[in-house]
Amino acid sequence: MSSSADKYQRPRALLLANIGQLLTLRSPSGKQGPRRGGDLNELEVIEDAAILCVAGKIVFVSKMREALRDPWVASNRKKIDEVDCRGRVVLPGFVDSHTHPVFMQPRLVDFEKRISGASYEQIAEAGGGIRSSLKAVRRATRRQLADGMFDALRRMAEQGTTTVEAKSGYGLNAESELKSLQAIAEAAKRWPGTVVPTLLGAHVIPQEFEDQGDEYVDLVCREMIPAAAKKKLARFADVFTERGAFSLEQTEKIFVAARQHGLGVRAHVGQLSRTPLSILLRFKVASLDHLDHVTEDDIRQLAQSDCVATLVPGANYFLGLADFAPARKLIDAGVAVALATDYNPGSSPTVSMPFVLSMACTRMRMSPAEAVSAATINAAWGLRLQDRKGSVEPGKDADLALFDVRDYREIAYWFGENRCLETVMNGLRQTEASG
Ligand SMILES: [Zn+2]
Repeated sequence: MSSSADKYQRPRALLLANIGQLLTLRSPSGKQGPRRGGDLNELEVIEDAAILCVAGKIVFVSKMREALRDPWVASNRKKIDEVDCRGRVVLPGFVDSHTHPVFMQPRLVDFEKRISGASYEQIAEAGGGIRSSLKAVRRATRRQLADGMFDALRRMAEQGTTTVEAKSGYGLNAESELKSLQAIAEAAKRWPGTVVPTLLGAHVIPQEFEDQGDEYVDLVCREMIPAAAKKKLARFADVFTERGAFSLEQTEKIFVAARQHGLGVRAHVGQLSRTPLSILLRFKVASLDHLDHVTEDDIRQLAQSDCVATLVPGANYFLGLADFAPARKLIDAGVAVALATDYNPGSSPTVSMPFVLSMACTRMRMSPAEAVSAATINAAWGLRLQDRKGSVEPGKDADLALFDVRDYREIAYWFGENRCLETVMNGLRQTEASG
């Protein structure tokens, strides 16, 4: 415990007191790297705990009685904003490491078509799917897109999410992709949480490039990536590597261009069909997402890499699929698994990380503890933000979620309702946030 809080410029301090269970997610063994295997079950819980945050950072984490004995806390108690957690559960804010929040409307026609039996690919071929979101995004102003995204960020924070990866990908020309990234930046500025922007120019091939996929890939590589990098509007480039979208060769080209311009890389892979992962792993890809279709060989290679496998069960749920990604096999083989919502209007319209945890437990047989690790520290690794996010430790950003439960396992148990009482983002309480 340290009493160095008074060295901060902004003396604004927040004390979370009387925490029943504090899930710190500190590394159980001091091991480096994302959590794998049995370590995913180690949440490093402190009972009857307190957290002091000053100027947006966590300053100390301790037992409640130690916090009360701290001389700085004792002499500044009146100035400290205090949240009495009354024996409830506090954990690091969720890191939602895969979302598509820049769109205008829900896709209700697709929803009904699918209920009456059409597949994801049939809907796309009939002009629905990703392409149907294009028109509205191309027509929208940056401000309209930012407003929609800000609303999503607010709803995410209400359910305990404090860091969000946000992809463009419904503009699909240079102008609208950049407009989408600017909308992400604008919404991020109004929200106290943390947003990581990703260029997903390679989401699907737009109609005007029908049968000219390679020309479209050139546009992504020569215009979108350089412009997004130059204006610092994206930290990653993402590709939907899938039949009907982009081939492995096209993905490689995009990864090469992204790396040349200083962007990290990530990909959607194995959602509808298998793509061998070895080539993608050579690019130090931060995360490969979906992974419903993987072979034993793919799993072995993933386990030997620092690439995070981000599973998005919301898409399987919403598309009405019987099968989910093989989380058990991945974890047991030593792959670093993360969880995210995949928030998007076509296949996963949910902002709820608690619901994702519930699906991870019931449909993918992850333990509640594994699901928490996957949605916090490992998701932070998937965004390469592990030094700032994903655990409750001194020096890290003050990103916290307080749930109205006595036992952390209840977060995944009470599905379909929101038990999150309070979210702290970079030291600011959601209730104080304006926008
Ligand atoms: Zn996605």
